[in-house]
Amino acid sequence: MNGDFVHTIKTTGESSHGYGNCDICGKHCTEVFVLDEARYYQLPDIIAMERNVPIGTLALTYANCESKFGHKNCLENYAKTRKNRYE
Ligand SMILES: [Zn+2]
Repeated sequence: MNGDFVHTIKTTGESSHGYGNCDICGKHCTEVFVLDEARYYQLPDIIAMERNVPIGTLALTYANCESKFGHKNCLENYAKTRKNRYE
């Protein structure tokens, strides 16, 4: 839905020695994960027409979104705190 966040969490396969401490709790991680955040937005009508897709088509944007590194649990909790625009 328009304004909804999309979160993906992936391992970097490395510890805090490579990526630094957790962005959320500031502690060392034996395995650092990365949270990628994107959100849906409705294409402006003019863009939809240019791309020959239906009016109201949703696309993903990284505008005003953040990426974080840290513990998987910390990232999952952080993602839950991110509110969708129309809630
Ligand atoms: Zn943490």
